[in-house]
Amino acid sequence: MDRLVERAADALTAPELADVVDLVAWPDGDGAVRVANSAGRARLRPGEPDELIDGASPVADQNPMAFLPYSDECADPAPPNARNAYPHAGDRLLSLFGDGGRSPNLVVVHTAAHYFPEAGGHVGEHGSLDVIQSRAPLLLSGPGVRATGWLDDYARLRDIGPTLAWLAGAGPDDATGRLLDAAGAPVEGDVLDRLVGRGAGWVVGVLWDGAHCGDLLHLVGRGELPAVERLLERGCALRGGAVAEFPSVTLTNHTSILTGVGPGRHGILGNVFYDRASELAVNANDATTWHRSAEWLRPGVATVFEQVARARPGVLTACVNEPVDRGSGYSTMAVIRATGSADGATSLAQALADPTGSPYVGERAHLADRYYAWATQVDDAGVDQMLSLWHSPGAAPALTWWSNSVTDAGHHAGGPRSTIARDSLRDADRRLGAFLDHLDRVGVADEVLVVLTADHGFEGADPACRGGWDEALRSAGVPYRDEGPGFVYLGEGMAR
Ligand SMILES: [Zn+2]
Repeated sequence: MDRLVERAADALTAPELADVVDLVAWPDGDGAVRVANSAGRARLRPGEPDELIDGASPVADQNPMAFLPYSDECADPAPPNARNAYPHAGDRLLSLFGDGGRSPNLVVVHTAAHYFPEAGGHVGEHGSLDVIQSRAPLLLSGPGVRATGWLDDYARLRDIGPTLAWLAGAGPDDATGRLLDAAGAPVEGDVLDRLVGRGAGWVVGVLWDGAHCGDLLHLVGRGELPAVERLLERGCALRGGAVAEFPSVTLTNHTSILTGVGPGRHGILGNVFYDRASELAVNANDATTWHRSAEWLRPGVATVFEQVARARPGVLTACVNEPVDRGSGYSTMAVIRATGSADGATSLAQALADPTGSPYVGERAHLADRYYAWATQVDDAGVDQMLSLWHSPGAAPALTWWSNSVTDAGHHAGGPRSTIARDSLRDADRRLGAFLDHLDRVGVADEVLVVLTADHGFEGADPACRGGWDEALRSAGVPYRDEGPGFVYLGEGMAR
């Protein structure tokens, strides 16, 4: 296997591929990971200084606060490796290689500018190890938040679930200060008690899928997202946001947020991954499979809903429009599972209201984009569920998680800062505003802790930056399968 990996890595780091291959990585024994690209190689072992093997390190800059202030990001969009940054590169890559049954033998990280429509890529894309695709917004608002306004700080997405569960009553382990998973092992995410303390009557987590951190905060600063601004008046926003796990894709990070562990522990390695035991490629991030996501969770994992149920048996939790729902008292996906629908949320959308009648859509022309139209329907149904769950505060869930999709649709369609991306943020803001208005109406706005985040960032691809690495791998003569693309599984059994 080592020889196959070396051959694949040599082929993938050829200078001709440098426009599309940012770097490749593979496990290097002893808790270490090797990274390589056409400019050099390094060995990363979390907790130790990186060891440069030759040339320049592919992850020389690991600053989580890179490209701040936001004007720096705008001035250098989708930067090449030498000007890019890769926060927590070692432990994020190492987690990807932590699942013996599912981890690829080698991973290829696309360059920020790579455009690959033939393999499912969009004008706006995410999935990279780099800082901008990995940077999700993080705002905390309401009782117990320790600071107000804009903070020069960052957290990690895996910290959010443990923090929500702790705020809702789950206790950290005295010895480690961390929540314990179902097998009694400490989770990897920190409780963010430097930012917030307990005391809220209710806890609400809001996820805007793919909402771009820098542009979201920029629009708030210009007064264009009034509901988020209302949150900020009662709390804080981290300029560095929250760093996603790798890859910076949807289901991997929804799962890390809601379990407090990286992909190597929870098992949802990517939106698509290969499972050696079943010899199947699993596409876990799809409207047709979302409602089945718990099937792929590894043993020992505990969701935030399970954490709260363990600490406070019988208390209501709710999970709106979110695939990672195991243990929640109310769950949209449970409703879908109960219908026995084979294609999940796809056919559900046919039962939902016509998106052209949505009161939250600012620009109806965007509904010509099928994903935007579907997300509008689903997100509108999300508001309805939120208002229904919160009909009376006495019956409201102690912990509510509310996932929204239109922001991902807007950013895929146009990339960050595009009209459609910004309008998707404005639509999501109107839905959030409807919920905040409701809290005002029922008189509990001062008692509800709200966290707003996303699952990843976004960068705009360069339509001229085309091509792939299939030919290079074929010429190297290595038997392989490539899921994603980017998860490379090697060996005789993998040849397709
Ligand atoms: Zn996403």
